[in-house]
Amino acid sequence: MIEVMISKEQLNERIKQLGKEITDYYKDKTDTLHAVCVLKGSIHFFSELVQNIDLNVEYSFIQVSSYSGVSSTGRIRVKSWIDEPIEGRHVIVVEDILDTGLTLSYILDYLRRYRPADLKVVTLLKKLGRNPQVKPEFVGFEIEDKFVIGYGLDYNEKYRNLPYIGWVKGEIK
Ligand code: 5GP
Ligand code: MG
Ligand code: MG
Repeated sequence: MIEVMISKEQLNERIKQLGKEITDYYKDKTDTLHAVCVLKGSIHFFSELVQNIDLNVEYSFIQVSSYSGVSSTGRIRVKSWIDEPIEGRHVIVVEDILDTGLTLSYILDYLRRYRPADLKVVTLLKKLGRNPQVKPEFVGFEIEDKFVIGYGLDYNEKYRNLPYIGWVKGEIK
């Protein structure tokens, strides 16, 4: 059974506020923000967030998968990467959820090589009790350390299109 953790209304409300926080932070620094959507999980968050940012927003999309194999460091595979110039740009990486931070720290290390003027992170969700190696500047919700699905997040590619964030009580199918 899927239980609602964060409703559609709560998501919309908080993402509207985040858009404002981000606008307020950047408005004296730049008139153009370059937003990097980390596919696939961030798709709905990205789409909603950029509509609530009152600046010019350029888009990039990247796709990576993380394999936590036998080694504790895990392994990252890049499936698609940016080809837009971001040197000297104000860049914000838009993530769905921060757990160990391994994926994100890999992404940030690589993006830094393009020498953006500034590189920040916004994540919709951050798991409590975790101490990720990346500190996001903007966080939507801090949540319990549970496996969540919906609003872009999957379990074996299922449940991404749920309009809310949920968690599975009992056995997941
Ligand atoms: P991290 O590298 O921070 O440990 O996690 C990277 C990725 O694992 C996230 O971007 C997300 O795709 C996936 N992930 C982490 N926690 C969850 C979760 O609770 N639910 C789902 N569906 N994916 C998660
Ligand atoms: Mg992600
Ligand atoms: Mg996934």
